[in-house]
Amino acid sequence: MQTARRIQTLPPYLFAEIDRKIAERKAAGADVISLGIGDPDRPTPAHVVEALKKAVQDVSTHQYPSYVGMPEFRRSVAAWYERRFSVTLDPDTQVLPLIGSKEGIANLSTAFVDPGDLVAVPDPAYPVYEIGAHLHNGTAYEMPLLAAHDFLPDFLQILPKQLTRTKILWLNYPSNPTAAVATAEFFAEAVAFAKKHDLLVVNDAAYSEIAFDGYQHPSILQAPGALDTAVEFHSLSKTYNMTGWRIGWMAGCAEAVEALGRVKTNIDSGIFNAVQMAGIAALEGPQDCVAEMVQLYQSRRDRVCSVFEENGWKFTRPKASVFVWLPVPEGRTSLSTADLLLQKADVVVTPGSGYGPAGEGYIRLSLTVPDDRLDIAVSRMGKALANT
Ligand SMILES: *Cc1c(COP(=O)(O)O)cnc(C)c1O
Repeated sequence: MQTARRIQTLPPYLFAEIDRKIAERKAAGADVISLGIGDPDRPTPAHVVEALKKAVQDVSTHQYPSYVGMPEFRRSVAAWYERRFSVTLDPDTQVLPLIGSKEGIANLSTAFVDPGDLVAVPDPAYPVYEIGAHLHNGTAYEMPLLAAHDFLPDFLQILPKQLTRTKILWLNYPSNPTAAVATAEFFAEAVAFAKKHDLLVVNDAAYSEIAFDGYQHPSILQAPGALDTAVEFHSLSKTYNMTGWRIGWMAGCAEAVEALGRVKTNIDSGIFNAVQMAGIAALEGPQDCVAEMVQLYQSRRDRVCSVFEENGWKFTRPKASVFVWLPVPEGRTSLSTADLLLQKADVVVTPGSGYGPAGEGYIRLSLTVPDDRLDIAVSRMGKALANT
């Protein structure tokens, strides 16, 4: 048996080494606390769970859902965009429900990438943008995200001969892993650039609702002309603690919505209707659960940031996302710092280098850990840092 070359050449799993060390510490009896994974620790709001229970008892939800999602769910997404961003979307042509946004992010490459094509991806980034292209024998052009440039890519650096082969410009704000945010002006420039060079610009907005100190993150779809050339991915996973439910969407440019929809009709059969009904309850129900989550993450952010600030680390506290992205002190690397915190504090953080070469020199800490565990982790990290 021979697997495809595209599978054989998938890049190696960069956290394998750190996983081995975690297993070693655990085997030695250590109480390891992981700040490595961005999966919300809090449960899905009760009214959303109730909506699912009710929906699942309606036997009509037990059959195949529609490929394009329930019209009611698409309308509820469009209404959310109108309320939240004053963006008017046609729920029939500009909203595509997804089985979690990761699914759509990976499948978008099937719709846009031919062998030899390029996609421009941020570095560091969520790996799925690049892997999607790789699985279609496309190549990623990495756009470094630098602190000096507010972790925004400089797409003007893409050479003309590369631009002619570029199909997708991937953006992710608020960003995983850098926790950076984008401005409306930046989105406008990205949309103008995409239009000029006839490519699709995508913002992955998984963390747009988790923003601190009263800050509200913009949508790329607010930029002038966005609906001609831009789409945005969003998901209920992070906003409503629904990572296990698998429900998200892509919204924006109708041509891209149609193209991804065409791919999906051939490979999946949509989201369980009961989950879509629960999704409507999440989007249209009371939003105080979101405000409470944001408060909780903000307080965790402050506790985590304080301990590093007290030990002389220089950085600005993130405005959004569930991550803290910290530049490591001089003379250290991503890996050596992650290793130090594991060995001295039994705390797992992810080395920034795992998200791309420009992530070297950073570590990422996730705030999705119960408060009591986070406090222990913070206290242990404080002692470890004071002693180095
Ligand atoms: C968590 C996350 C998502 C959301 O994934 P779902 O498949 O919707 O659960 C998308 N993009 C990034 C960068 C993420 O961190």
